[in-house]
Parts: sequence; structure tokens; C-alpha cells
Amino acid sequence: MGAADARVVVVGSFNVDHVWTVAALPRPGETLSGHYHTGPGGKGFNQATAAARAGAATSFVCALGDDLGGQLARALASADGIDLRDFASEAPTGTAGIYVDHDGRNSIVIGPGANAELSAAHVRQQQAPIAAAQVVLAQLESPVEAVETAFGRARDAGVITILNPAPADAVAPASLWVLADVVTPNETEFCAQFERHTGERIAAEVLVRQDDARLHALCRRLLPHGTVVITLGAAGCFVSHGEGRLRQDARTHYRIAAAAVQPVDTTGAGDAFNGALAASLARHADAAFADHVHYANRYAALSTERAGAAVAMPRDAEVEARFRTV
Ligand code: AMP
Repeated sequence: MGAADARVVVVGSFNVDHVWTVAALPRPGETLSGHYHTGPGGKGFNQATAAARAGAATSFVCALGDDLGGQLARALASADGIDLRDFASEAPTGTAGIYVDHDGRNSIVIGPGANAELSAAHVRQQQAPIAAAQVVLAQLESPVEAVETAFGRARDAGVITILNPAPADAVAPASLWVLADVVTPNETEFCAQFERHTGERIAAEVLVRQDDARLHALCRRLLPHGTVVITLGAAGCFVSHGEGRLRQDARTHYRIAAAAVQPVDTTGAGDAFNGALAASLARHADAAFADHVHYANRYAALSTERAGAAVAMPRDAEVEARFRTV
């Protein structure tokens, strides 16, 4: 399938990030000065930008306020050719206040604002782009009813659904979980969702020490019907397939190593991975799932060589050029 026919719909959040770099994180009552910058964020927007730059025609379903943040979202979506399907909310556009210290630790406060207003009714109005897509991708920074509605419509139309269960403290009810063909947690998110869905606690340090057969068994319990991709940062990712429709080779589980890069900022690497995975699935419907993961790994690795999240997403041609093996 050519890029022009490859369609991805992302349902998710847009935030204006306000970032202060400080020597040490502020204590109660303390006033500090630090280096400030601002830019676009929100997992939904980051992933939509990645999907678009990875070569899929991308629609982004979100809610925006009638303010400067909303104008920023429109300008950026237009610059990347993203088909913005936004709903005007009376709440302000989502924001995040982020302090980062010199050791890379951070404290974050999110003001969901308009993101919290995205409703099932809004998503129902986007039936046409959802049914015309190959892949619908969502996260958990938007109301669950909105994501569940999008996935329900996608499933009815035979469209692949990818749920990135982030952030880790967000709840994904069983009614949503069963609608996901693929889930893409990092280690922390895996442990959080595993506890919620099975009632059993597993620590992230324990999870990463599991051998592949055990990890596969845990994944099968987490999402019995579908594919689990655990992203492992600099270690790449682990893939576990169920009996769902995405397994194109004989392997039930495997690891794919990360691409060798010189990271300067891993913020948004998970978003890069998800957007690129969705775009690759949409563009190359006949390729094996492992090939899509391989591409997403390379795409995400390249995104870590630049500062920022959405602004750091590479273009498909850059990924091809960087990792060309002759
Ligand atoms: P994470 O959300 O940290 O698990 O990262 C998501 C994906 O980004 C990983 O599965 C890798 O493909 C890629 N990635 C993250 N950190 C690195 C790194 N230091 N080097 C190469 N790839 C990375």
C-alpha cells in the first residue's frame, strides 16, 4: 500500500508544555529561577506527529480551547499536514508545567483542560475517518469513553487498534482492553496494567529479569487475545503474540534490539515508537509484524538524538537514510 492510501487516526491529548530547567526541584515555599522554554506536547499530538512524519495520512481527534494553545495546535498540525479533527471546548487547552533538574529528574503538573472534555459523542462524529483508516491509535490521557468509542467503531470496520496504556496511573477498564489488538506499555505501565487486570503485583525490576518464556506467559495473561509490545528503552522491545490477527510468522514471542544511536533526550521516545508502529502497519499491510516493530525501533531511536518530543520526530526519509544497509 502506498503512503497516500495509508491512513492512521490518533485519538488523544494536546498540551502546551511549559518547561523550566532548574539546579534542584523547588521545595514548598521556595522561589527559584531557571531556564524556560515552551512547546507542544501531549501524548496524542506527539504520536500523531510521528505517524504523519513516518509517512501515513494522519487524522488527529482531540479537544482544544479557544486560546493561544489551540492556535498553536492548529498551526503545527497544518505544518505537518495532519488532518486536525478538533472539538472547541470552553475549557482552556491542555497544559503541562514541568521542572527538570540537572540530574534529569522531573516534577510535572498537568492541567488536562480541554483534553478532559473529549467525549464519546465527539468521537462518534469521526466515524468516516475511523472507518477509512488501517490503524486507530490512542493513549490514556483522554477520557476512556472517547477511546472506547473510537476502538469500537474501528473494530466494526476491521481497523487495527493500538492502545498505548500511558500514563501508568491511568485506568483502562476491561471494556476498553478487549477492543485493543495491540497494547504497547513500557515496563512501568506493564506492571501497573498487569496489577489492574490480573490483581497480581509485579515489580518493574522483577519484570526485566524474566526470561523470554516467562515474559511471554505474563503478556498472555495481560492481553490473552492480542499482541503485547513492551518497550524497554535502550534495550529495544519485547513482542508477545496471542491468537489475534496480527501474527504473520511462526514466532509467538521475540525481542528486537534498539538501534544504536547517541541519545540526547529520550522524552517522547515511546510516542515516536507508537506513531511509527501505526504508520508502518498502515503503509505495509502485508509485512510481518516484526518488520513494523523493527521500523518503530529505528524511528524512536532517531527521535532521541534531538531535544524535545513532537519537534524531535524524524521524517521517514531520514530514518531510511540513517539506517540504510547497502
Ligand atoms: P521507552 O518508552 O523508553 O521504552 O522507549 C521507547 C522506544 O524508544 C524503545 O523501545 C526504543 O525503540 C527507543 N529508545 C528509547 N531509548 C533509546 C535509546 N537510548 N537508544 C535507542 N533507542 C531507544
